[in-house]
Amino acid sequence: MQKIQMKTPLVEMDGDEMTRIIWKMLKDELILPFVDLKTEYYDLGLVKRDETDDKITVEAAEACKKYGVGVKCATITPNAQRMTEYNLKRMYKSPNGTIRAILDGTVFRAPITMDCLKPSVRSWNKPITIARHAYGDIYKCQEYRVPGPGRAEIKFTDENGNVTFDETVFEFKTPGVLMGTYNKDDSIESFANACFQYALSTKQDLWFSTKDTISKKYDHTFKDIFQRIYDEKYKAEFEKLGLEYFYTLIDDAVARVIRSNGGFIWALKNYDGDVMSDMVATAFGSLAMMTSVLVSPDGNYEYEAAHGTVTKHYYKHLEGESTSTNSMATIFAWSGALRKRGELDGINELVDFANKLEQASLETIASGFMTKDLALLADMDKKTVCTTDGFIKKIRERLEMLLA
Ligand code: NAP
Ligand code: MG
Repeated sequence: MQKIQMKTPLVEMDGDEMTRIIWKMLKDELILPFVDLKTEYYDLGLVKRDETDDKITVEAAEACKKYGVGVKCATITPNAQRMTEYNLKRMYKSPNGTIRAILDGTVFRAPITMDCLKPSVRSWNKPITIARHAYGDIYKCQEYRVPGPGRAEIKFTDENGNVTFDETVFEFKTPGVLMGTYNKDDSIESFANACFQYALSTKQDLWFSTKDTISKKYDHTFKDIFQRIYDEKYKAEFEKLGLEYFYTLIDDAVARVIRSNGGFIWALKNYDGDVMSDMVATAFGSLAMMTSVLVSPDGNYEYEAAHGTVTKHYYKHLEGESTSTNSMATIFAWSGALRKRGELDGINELVDFANKLEQASLETIASGFMTKDLALLADMDKKTVCTTDGFIKKIRERLEMLLA
């Protein structure tokens, strides 16, 4: 069989621990035998990040901007314990945070759904994609533990030194807490553009919700910016495709989401998206089945699994024990990136290969072969628990059949 040729390279970002093991296995078994793979390789494993003072992460993000499509393995975000474990020079920031800041992107998370995996919410028969604004709010705030009586004030001084806002937030009589958060119009605009474009490209309705009735300036600004951008840039195309943009209050949205059948994108502010994406992921089943793509407003795509490096399984692997780690979300990161590369470069064979890779993976599970996490969830009579590499080899058998 002739291998599929590529034109433009994919930006390949390797990572850490169990997912780094999976990365190599799935490339060797599921991609390299079939695709004459062109990638620009960046090793974002913690050792290499430390060696390069984390410059490698910035270079990888710049490469995503240059080529437009990247695929990333899960990586360790160092904490105090990792400082000792890896003897690090510094406590580096989260690579995902660095990449997101450079691409100015929005993260879309969607579960891989299957008939044999019943969501906890019975009415959900299509995936729900969460779009989380990944900038500002409580993640970039000033906060203070108020020790006792005193006045909390909020003040804005413009660039000419004029105080244009100066209000008392609260007169404390007793100890308490205090926080100041912000966001920027241009970041909210990027978020809105990424959401509308992603809705159009995946042909799904877009829901957006905030608490604008209570937060009449802060949250209302989000609502107004989304509405303006929709009216100016996207309304006509949404209507042409029969898609809906729907704004509602967050509490109303929660109730509607639970009653819905799924099949739409739910855009949320930073904190709301953080919380709701874990809720939706858990209700759909396993974290190992959650895909994630970072989309920038100028059309760059970075695909990855939503889960981490699965440290516990890695330590077992190092002890020589056999593991049953689910590679589905990492496989779908590769298929997502290869499909997008194929679409952008007009290579139908590559798009077709990406679709068949997904089909082979889904059919493998549907035929009863799966990793331990899914065996606990799947509603099927006959299930065979596979090892990490056993599962990937089973997918390869199916893929070869589909491509033959
Ligand atoms: P995790 O790697 O997502 O794993 C948490 C638990 O979820 C695992 O112990 C396992 O449960 C289950 N799980 C997750 N993915 C699985 C898979 N593919 N197959 C089977 N089970 C799976 O989260 P963590 O242990 O909190 O974090 C580990 C490291 O990953 C940390 O250093 C963190 O910084 C990093 N991290 C990176 C990213 C990223 O790069 N995007 C995201 C999150 C975390 P059982 O042990 O019960 O089997
Ligand atoms: Mg969270």
